[in-house]
Amino acid sequence: MAFPPSVSQGAMVLGKVPPGSRVEYAGHTLRTTGYGTVVFGIGRDETGPARVVVVRPDGSRVEASIAVTARDWPVQRVDGVPPKTVDPPPEIAERIRREQAQVTAARVRDDDRADFATPFAWPVQGRISGRFGNQRVYNGKPGSPHSGMDIAAPSGTPVLAPAAGIVTFAAPDLYLTGGTLLLDHGFGISSNFLHLSRIDVKVGDRIEQGQVIGAVGATGRATGPHLHWGMNWFDVRIDPLLVLDRR
Ligand SMILES: [Zn+2]
Repeated sequence: MAFPPSVSQGAMVLGKVPPGSRVEYAGHTLRTTGYGTVVFGIGRDETGPARVVVVRPDGSRVEASIAVTARDWPVQRVDGVPPKTVDPPPEIAERIRREQAQVTAARVRDDDRADFATPFAWPVQGRISGRFGNQRVYNGKPGSPHSGMDIAAPSGTPVLAPAAGIVTFAAPDLYLTGGTLLLDHGFGISSNFLHLSRIDVKVGDRIEQGQVIGAVGATGRATGPHLHWGMNWFDVRIDPLLVLDRR
């Protein structure tokens, strides 16, 4: 059995267990590949230790305890976003709830595909203009922590799939996130791409790494063109930059 001794908040954690083991973490029974690879995510606010229970094929039980390293979460002020996206009118609240529920539903999947296991690549090249976990203040009003990483790039820049996957959600114009695309990498790991000006794929499409899936835009709650790339393990948000750094 092999797990890292410590991980950062927001990490995607890969571990190895004897093939055929049963693995439990945070109320989930984890899928294992034929080689015994498992994956899970550490949330932004988790303090750890993360405990993984492994029941080997012979029935013996062992527990891994993984320390979680705390990170700093700087405040990031974002000014100039459309006021109607910071204080949505009451009649819009129901629409936002409905749209978020659709996105959440797409993240329940637990597909038996190990697309997450290959090294991820940057979906666009550019300056990081917003980091995962930042405490966001929009037009002076505190908002939720930033759920992904922002990469500044001109509108229309092609967005490439950072890893292979299946398209599980595609909508051109959600209220807060604009052009929104979800790509499922298997085992509960997914990517989301927000504020797109164009979407080139549809739900159910099989996507290879490096394939063009859409284009950078500034749709939804955005001050200018950039790609917001978020990643999840089911409903746990993880930091794409840490996933890239695994290379
Ligand atoms: Zn963002």
